[in-house]
Parts: sequence; C-alpha cells; structure tokens
Amino acid sequence: MRPPPHARWERSDQPRSPGRRLRPRSVRPREQRQRCNMEPVRTCVGCRTRAPRTALIRVVSRGLELVIDERKAAPGRGAWLHPSRECAENALRRRAFGRALRVSGPLDTQTFEEWLNGYGNKVNGSK
Ligand SMILES: [Zn+2]
Repeated sequence: MRPPPHARWERSDQPRSPGRRLRPRSVRPREQRQRCNMEPVRTCVGCRTRAPRTALIRVVSRGLELVIDERKAAPGRGAWLHPSRECAENALRRRAFGRALRVSGPLDTQTFEEWLNGYGNKVNGSK
C-alpha cells in the first residue's frame, strides 16, 4: 500500500518552503477511454442482420424520394442495407425504408430501383 501523495504534506518535521506551493499530482492517470476497435455496426433493413457500416450502403430520403447516399454522409436519418438485390427487394417489399427513415406516406422508390437495376454496372453516366 502506498500512502496517498498528500500524506507527505502532513508531515510537520519538514517545513514547507514558503515560496513554493505543493500541488497534488493527479493520482490517477487520465482515464483513457477504451476505444472500441470494432467498426460501427448497422442493421440491414432488408434482412435485419447486423453488419459493419462499411459493408452496407446507406439510403436516405430526399423529400419523398429514396436515394442512395453514396458518401454515407447525408444529414438526417438513413437506412442501411446490404448491397444486394435480395436485401433491397426485401426492404422494398416490407416497406422497411419508410419505417427506417420515418417517412409517412409513399416513398418514391424509382431512383432506388433504377440504382438497383443498374447495380453492377459501375459507370452510370452521372455522378
Ligand atoms: Zn441484408
């Protein structure tokens, strides 16, 4: 057991030097937040399984239009989805996007479906 550092101060046999203020050194080292090395995980709205963010695509609503958030940086709510036709169709069928994005009312999924149909063709003409 080590005495706490301030115990030293209470020793009267050592006069404190008047000009110097002793300050307690912080006893505990600054608590280091343990950084989780795991990637953030999101749930795919198609199959409801969890996957690392990087393995999913993000879908947002622009107005009532469902669009792919390629940069995963659009503000607002996003829905996460495996980049697979199966998950996308699942999500569409179950109207999972509306729920995930809190959009009440019919979503315009045309853009999304076009993207889905063109999935695999890397060059789409537009950026
Ligand atoms: Zn999925």
